[in-house]
Amino acid sequence: MPQALVYSTITCPYCYSENAAEIDISAGSQEYYEDCEVCCAPMALAVHVDDQGELIQIEVKPGNG
Ligand SMILES: [Zn+2]
Repeated sequence: MPQALVYSTITCPYCYSENAAEIDISAGSQEYYEDCEVCCAPMALAVHVDDQGELIQIEVKPGNG
């Protein structure tokens, strides 16, 4: 059974601080918002998972446009 939880490091697009992210890839590709732990800005995370349930990529974009 593939591992459902992946721990990764994402870089805030506002202050460039590193944030720890815990991603449930068993839900497949998804997008969600998370606040930066340092500057509290909203980050839009786009998680890309392939057909085998393997994590391909995590994209981080500014969450407020
Ligand atoms: Zn930040």
